[in-house]
Parts: sequence; structure tokens; C-alpha cells
Amino acid sequence: MLDLPPSLLWPLAAVLGLCLGSFLNVVIVRLPVMLMLGWRAEAREALELPDETSPRFNLATPRSMCPSCETPIAWHDNLPVIGWLKRRGRCAYCGVAISPQYPLVELAGAALTLAVVALFGPSWQGLFVLGACLALLAMAVIDLRTQLLPDLLTLPLLWAGLLYQLLFQPLLLPSAVIGAMAGYLALWSFYWAFKLITGKEGMGYGDFKLMAALGAWLGWQTLPLLLILSAGIGAIVGILVQLAVPRLRGAPMPFGPYLALAGWVALLAGEPLMAAYGRFFLL
Ligand SMILES: [Zn+2]
Repeated sequence: MLDLPPSLLWPLAAVLGLCLGSFLNVVIVRLPVMLMLGWRAEAREALELPDETSPRFNLATPRSMCPSCETPIAWHDNLPVIGWLKRRGRCAYCGVAISPQYPLVELAGAALTLAVVALFGPSWQGLFVLGACLALLAMAVIDLRTQLLPDLLTLPLLWAGLLYQLLFQPLLLPSAVIGAMAGYLALWSFYWAFKLITGKEGMGYGDFKLMAALGAWLGWQTLPLLLILSAGIGAIVGILVQLAVPRLRGAPMPFGPYLALAGWVALLAGEPLMAAYGRFFLL
């Protein structure tokens, strides 16, 4: 798609990744609020209550502001990573601490962009894979913050996965369709088995949809690997977190971040991993 010298390509990819991460922060913070406002409006309509008049709130309005003193953030304080470092993680006006989520998501955006460029080059296929990796990043952080995996993100990721296979690997399309169905079904059955045995809910419907999306992107053959990776990392992190922070014992843990992590590994290092996994389990 693009033919750039490496001296231009890598810095460009890094800056692009930081800016995409910065945009993801806006999505991560605002999308759940937008959904909540929409649900409130629908509920009021169903209950025949008068409409609430609230100021416009979407991805573009209002401008970025300090969550505490609501002072709009100047453009030079809003630069990815640099803005946060310059202010040592504090608001320039009231001094309240600004979450390290902002620079971390920006750095993750840059890391994912560089990894995709390294593996796929600046190609249309790379652009699709980058979109999937960044969507997973947004979903992982939204799930961590709110325990929600919005349909608005999981379902388009599923359709995009099928389109990706159709465009770039049409022979794998049947495997992707089966992957989407089997991915949903695998977690759905686990959820119901867990609920019938323990009476508790181990995960949410968003997790099934995210697994279906990963099945579409990676094919049914990758599902066991995704399950092992996400459940394995989830169990290790869960135990470590509960040991380190005893008050979190028994608290519900979002599963989306581990699915996203397994998705990144499979999307970016899937082929060598699947080969090793095949040798390990099939020989
Ligand atoms: Zn402030």
C-alpha cells in the first residue's frame, strides 16, 4: 500500500500509534457514559417520563477537560504521553492526579502499531489487523473500568473478522464462520455449566460475543489456544491480585482483558504459536 523508507516508516508508525491510543482514551472514557445516557433516555421513554435536558455528550463534545476542576485541557498538555509526563500526571490547574491509564493506553497503541507494521508491513491487511488490535485494547480497558463489553464494539469486530477472511484469506472463510459460532457456544456452555453448578455468574454475554469475534478473526482451530491463554493468564493474574490486595477476594473479575490479551498474541504471533502448540499436543 505504501512504499516508505524505514527511516520514515518507523517514526511515522510510532506517532500514528500514539495518536490512535489518544483517540482510544476518548472512546474508553466516553463510550460507556454515552451508552448509559442512551439507556436512561430509553428507560424514561418506556416509563413515559418527560425527557431530561442534558448537555450534548459524544466523542467530540465537550472538549477534553480535567475530570476534577473541569478546566479545558490546552493542546500542548493533551499531547500523547508527553502532556502527561510534562505535568507529572497532574492537572495543570487544580493539581488533581490524572490516571496513568492515559499514557499507558497511548503507549500500548504505539506498541501495537509498531508490531503490526513489523509483521504485516504498511499493507491493507495490516490496517485490518491493526483495527482489530486497537478495538481489543479499547474493549479490555472499558471492561476493566466498567465491567462492560459494549455490543457496539464486539459485534462490529465479529463482522470485520468475517470481512477480513473474505478479502484476504477466502479459503479460510468456513473456518472463520465455524470459529465465530463455536467461540460463542464454548463460553456460553461454560457460563451455564458454571451457573448451574455454583449458582454464580462467571462471565457476561459480552465475553461470548468477544470470543465469537476472535473465532471469526482466527478460525475455529485457534479457539483451544485462545481458551488456554485467556483462562491461564486470567487465573494467574487473579490469584496474584487477590494475594496482593486481599479486599478484592471474591470480587468479580472482568474476563475481557484476558480475551483481548489472548487475541493479540494469536493475531500477532499466531502462526509460530500454533505450530508449536500442534507439535506439543498432536505428536
Ligand atoms: Zn483540574
